[in-house]
Amino acid sequence: MNNEIEGIILSSIDYKEASKIVYLYTNIGNISVKALKAKKIKGGDLGFITTGNIVSFVMTNNNLPTLIEYHLKDTLFDLTTNINKINALSNILNILKLIPSDSPHNLIYPMVSKYISLLKDKNEKKILSIILIKLLYAFGVNPILKECINCKNTNLIDFNPRLGGSLCNNCSNHKSETLKYWKIYYYQKMEIDSFPDCDFDLLLNEIKLYYQFHLSIKINII
Ligand SMILES: [Zn+2]
Repeated sequence: MNNEIEGIILSSIDYKEASKIVYLYTNIGNISVKALKAKKIKGGDLGFITTGNIVSFVMTNNNLPTLIEYHLKDTLFDLTTNINKINALSNILNILKLIPSDSPHNLIYPMVSKYISLLKDKNEKKILSIILIKLLYAFGVNPILKECINCKNTNLIDFNPRLGGSLCNNCSNHKSETLKYWKIYYYQKMEIDSFPDCDFDLLLNEIKLYYQFHLSIKINII
């Protein structure tokens, strides 16, 4: 169908008696859509208001658009038994709400929705790490990974999230276990299984510091 948009349900709030306003991240960015029969039990829009669902939909063309119809493409409902997977999803959805409006959503959306769909079957910490590292680009901060942030030397051994990049063997005496994963996760595009595994708790802790120091965004990892 024409004008069909695909998106991830981020959250929703009550609107009038039976309706909701639904917030989505889509291939055209963050939008909000009125779902008029959202809370009706029969023939309602349950699939359109459930957080984490991936939907394709058609909406009216006005300031606060109204949902016309939608199709459920994927649901993460069965994640509800795994606290670590819910935590990863909730961090991803929170970050998506903050993506600057002038970002290349047509490139970001397919990457993010693909990885979100894999949360069910794959390592959630790996997925969260890849998404968060790749999204730094959308927020306009680029970790310096190809030369030393102090002296531009390329003999790199360390990664410092507070300073925002890598350090060479003259400028640091700490050998980072994560530097090579920062590089691979930031630059490479490949299937999830082709990305090498690492100590994801260690990596996520650095990612968390990176977001905190350079974007003032809080990542809550359990
Ligand atoms: Zn250096």
